[in-house]
Amino acid sequence: MPLRIAHAAAEITPFAKTGGLGDVVAGVARALGRRGHDVRAFLPFYAPVAKLDLPFVSVDFLRDIEVRMGERSFTFSIFTTRLPASSVDVYFVHCPALYHHDRIYSSDWDEYLRFGLLCRAVFECCQRMGWSPDVLHAHDWHTALLPVYQRSLYAWDRLFANTRTVLTLHNLGYPGTFAAGVAGDLGLAPHGHLLHRDDLAAGRFSFLKTGLIWADLLTTVSRTYAREIQTPEHGFGLDAMLRARADHLVGIVNGVDYGEWSPESDPYIPQRYSAADLSGKEATRQALLAKVGLATTPRAPVLGLVSRLTAQKGFDLLFDTLPEFLFHRDVRLVALGSGEERYESLLAWLQVTFPGKVWYYRGYNEELAHWIEAGADIFLMPSRYEPCGLNQMYSLRYGTPPVVRRTGGLADTVEPWNPVSRQGTGFLFDHFTPEGLRWAIDTALRVQADPEAWRQLQRNGMAKDFSWDRQVLEYEKAYGRLRRQR
Ligand code: ADP
Repeated sequence: MPLRIAHAAAEITPFAKTGGLGDVVAGVARALGRRGHDVRAFLPFYAPVAKLDLPFVSVDFLRDIEVRMGERSFTFSIFTTRLPASSVDVYFVHCPALYHHDRIYSSDWDEYLRFGLLCRAVFECCQRMGWSPDVLHAHDWHTALLPVYQRSLYAWDRLFANTRTVLTLHNLGYPGTFAAGVAGDLGLAPHGHLLHRDDLAAGRFSFLKTGLIWADLLTTVSRTYAREIQTPEHGFGLDAMLRARADHLVGIVNGVDYGEWSPESDPYIPQRYSAADLSGKEATRQALLAKVGLATTPRAPVLGLVSRLTAQKGFDLLFDTLPEFLFHRDVRLVALGSGEERYESLLAWLQVTFPGKVWYYRGYNEELAHWIEAGADIFLMPSRYEPCGLNQMYSLRYGTPPVVRRTGGLADTVEPWNPVSRQGTGFLFDHFTPEGLRWAIDTALRVQADPEAWRQLQRNGMAKDFSWDRQVLEYEKAYGRLRRQR
């Protein structure tokens, strides 16, 4: 039976994206729409979004809506447009007082209000549309107040009487924790009994924790991560709460939008290719090296890296591994990313120290990300922890076997290469040590030297199907569970 489903998030690709969150929200929403559900999505009308050349339409009855948030009040209006290639309408919350920053995330004092208002806007819009959602689906800390708002400020409204809430945990490392006083600013002071008492007593208020308590269902983005976050090592202090809610926690691996990420149809790369004919990949590899000015040799393997440069992604291991590989072996490194200064400096230093072998682009560049996925031979993703990860799935599709650590979604999506059975799709190491990564890169280089084995490994990965049309069935199952709970 078709459901009415509202998604609310801080990022939705292509409007607003800094990492995987935007891709995933767009992917789930689009696939649910294809399955015949009535899906609507809510996103702030950030200043950079307003500058996009898109047909935003203002909605008459969703104009100048005033919302009281504690002592303050904010007025917002709604613009809509379609999520490209979908039946999903996106509702953009236009509130310049909060969304005037030139970035999606700001470190300004009002960050909690920016996302608090987004949550309130979802309810206010549903009321004015007379649209009763079966599912309100929150993503990460930014929209984790949806469940508590349903049970407090909007508990009186029968429109939401049958609504169930879902909170997807894309990354537990960002809990959205603020001083306890913000609870009042968010309009939750009269509902203190719904908030985490110990936190308030300690002077804290966490969006994510509040969501963990009140969401009807919790999901996270891989089966392994669902298990890991229930342990002290990966739980960021929330493991006990997650163990307590284990019956309401499911792991669903993210899907890939193969419309965007397929070597057969990729509009960015210089030559398209497929598993049946990999010659275009070799041409793309040569074109990548030429584009970035690295010395081309027919055999030197190209290591690729596209990532936010944060400790989570495991780049501490690169300090003790990459210099020696670059010194002793005929390899190339093409890296794209920005983030913490020490990793940016490392990559910049490698580029200076190994001219002709290393190229690093500091920043965000969609086109280059596609070039590297396609043109590299081996993709590096040594994450310390990884809720799901998308790049390893992209690299599988592009015939670029990944070297990954066996954690979270990497463990669920990459299968170790077995030289005897010739099965497997990449290289996994267990221990978060330079030795672990060194072993995995070394193994990959050895297999790469055997063209026949390598081709088989590439084909195995390219045959994997992580499409949203498959993964979305798991979300439907989870939503079905919620309806039975009624
Ligand atoms: P996370 O969400 O933790 O950043 P994921 O692997 O889930 O990691 O998703 C990362 C997404 O962001 C991918 O689509 C990747 O291509 C993209 N990405 C990350 N850094 C950059 C960059 N510097 N330039 C272009 N795309 C990037």
